[in-house]
Amino acid sequence: MKILVIGELKDNLLSSDSLELISKSVEMSEEVYLCTIGDVENPHAKIDNLICKYIRTNDNKLSTHATANLLSDLINKESIEVIFLSSSYLCRDLAAFLSVDFNSAAVTNVIDIELQNTFNAITAINGGKDLYSTEIDSDKKIVVIRPKSFEVKDLTITEVDQSDFLKLENLPIDTAINEVTIEPKSGPQLEDSSIVVSAGRGLGEAENLSLVNDLANKLNAAVGATRAIVDAGWVPYSQQVGQTGKTVKPDIYIACGISGATQHQVGMKDSKYIIAINKDEDAPIFQISDLGIVGDVHSVLPKLLELI
Ligand code: FAD
Repeated sequence: MKILVIGELKDNLLSSDSLELISKSVEMSEEVYLCTIGDVENPHAKIDNLICKYIRTNDNKLSTHATANLLSDLINKESIEVIFLSSSYLCRDLAAFLSVDFNSAAVTNVIDIELQNTFNAITAINGGKDLYSTEIDSDKKIVVIRPKSFEVKDLTITEVDQSDFLKLENLPIDTAINEVTIEPKSGPQLEDSSIVVSAGRGLGEAENLSLVNDLANKLNAAVGATRAIVDAGWVPYSQQVGQTGKTVKPDIYIACGISGATQHQVGMKDSKYIIAINKDEDAPIFQISDLGIVGDVHSVLPKLLELI
């Protein structure tokens, strides 16, 4: 079975989502293709035993259509059966193009693949409480995977040979983007940090977030949030953890004043070690916690800050 992984770069390295897809693919098949998309000249995206290609996008990243055409050509030429994409904005756009090109539905939000006599994509539904299995029997299986679904293997990564660059044609641009604003990022990032400290409505008001930020600073952790406080405007959406936010899988997840609704749990329940602080001993978050502190965040957090 030939698998194509669509890779993406972050700071000239393969993104953690791409590494997950590659790790899963090499487990499933000996014929894995990796086509990385990025805007740097010398991408570190070549992996031993994989056939590695690279598409250098225009600096303004308006080349989705042309990129999809190149991918379709590659898929046809190499008779690729399975296409794995991450859930990034670019990959979801590309999945739509490929879906039309190959007249195959793209299955999205997938957390696992089951291979027996059939090819089945597993999706979590009902806020992550139930699993749903979709048999994909089309010639081309287009699968969009949710982040943190697979473990990353140790991979040796080197620079892609110039001869493996695929050249973009200059297609007319049918969508005009006048301005791209990239949100400035500093400190540990939610997706990659080994510790995440998250805040919920139990903090009471936005000013009290300083307690969570101070704890995160001391632990060199990223700060996450529930949808309740994102909707209340306390923090930006980029910090939301959960079904409609980010999926995280840190070594330690500290939930402060979070009830643990299933939609929040689906984004963090696979963290290695979960610590929860909540004044309600029946809060659902305690059902998935390794350490539960029943108490008021306004007294527990200052004490923790004193001790660390
Ligand atoms: P609450 O549920 O109000 O919980 C606050 C908790 O704080 C309570 O358990 C309370 O006991 C505790 N508390 C109060 N005061 C204190 C104190 N002083 N000290 C300690 N504890 C205290 N939610 C997400 O988080 N992420 C998502 O991606 C997401 N997607 C959703 C998608 C859909 C389609 C829907 C319908 C909902 C989604 N939600 C999501 C919302 C989710 O259902 C919950 O409403 C939300 O997670 C609740 O956030 P919370 O825990 O901060 O608030």
